[in-house]
Amino acid sequence: MAADTRVAVVTGGNRGLGLETCRQLARLGYAVLLTSRDEKSGTAAVAELKSQNLNVSYYRLDVTDPASIGALIEHIGKLGRIDALVNNAAVLIDSGKSIFEITTELLEKTMRSNVYGPLELCQRVVPLMRQRNYGRIVNVSSRGGQLSTIANFAPAYCISKTALNAVTGHVALACKGTNVLVNSVCPGWVRTDMGGRDAPRTVEEGADTIVWAATLPDGGPSGGFFADRAPIPW
Ligand code: NAP
Repeated sequence: MAADTRVAVVTGGNRGLGLETCRQLARLGYAVLLTSRDEKSGTAAVAELKSQNLNVSYYRLDVTDPASIGALIEHIGKLGRIDALVNNAAVLIDSGKSIFEITTELLEKTMRSNVYGPLELCQRVVPLMRQRNYGRIVNVSSRGGQLSTIANFAPAYCISKTALNAVTGHVALACKGTNVLVNSVCPGWVRTDMGGRDAPRTVEEGADTIVWAATLPDGGPSGGFFADRAPIPW
């Protein structure tokens, strides 16, 4: 890898928006570390991108497992840099449930993937980014997490995205005055396993704002919530 090649780490890169984000970042010249909890589908995704002459490699990462996060951080240490982190991995396991039906166990499981994992990754990655005074962190959120308009679906998932947005605000505040920019984005309603077949957007369209936020120029926004490359209410 050339010393000036930027490194991007994407969680949940084996399918959906994560895979497309890896593709778009690699096309922009990043060395992409595609991570997934499932090694088979992750290495298959890497093979697909490599066959398109893209600079992508694989690392196994379960965002709910602190030991797995620790091993990733060690690996990044060997690579010598991390320029962009895309916290994309998430679960949606309460479709069709009302706020009165979600259990603490279900909420806890959702929070572990969608909030605690991304927060721990921010905590471990920001010091590395600050050492080189460059970093972009994208927390892939959802309009479902907006407090300005409470969404009428999957309450545990929506609560987790509200919390993820709070993580974005706190990490951005802690990085204020540095060249580490931290934002939340909503990709829109996208045709993936999570979004379903009726969603109006392609993964290419959905990944656009994620990639935009992962590649912001110096002096770009931090601590914001964006969709279609424009700010949206919290
Ligand atoms: P998806 O197709 O369901 O993919 C979710 C990804 O997250 C998969 O790669 C999955 O891995 C991974 N994942 C889940 N738990 C994990 C864990 N503990 N460790 C590592 N990876 C884990 O969903 P998507 O539509 O691409 O969603 C990507 C992001 O966009 C999510 O943050 C989602 O909330 C957000 N979003 C999506 C939409 C939409 O309409 N699709 C709208 C708004 C926001 P496995 O294959 O191993 O399960």
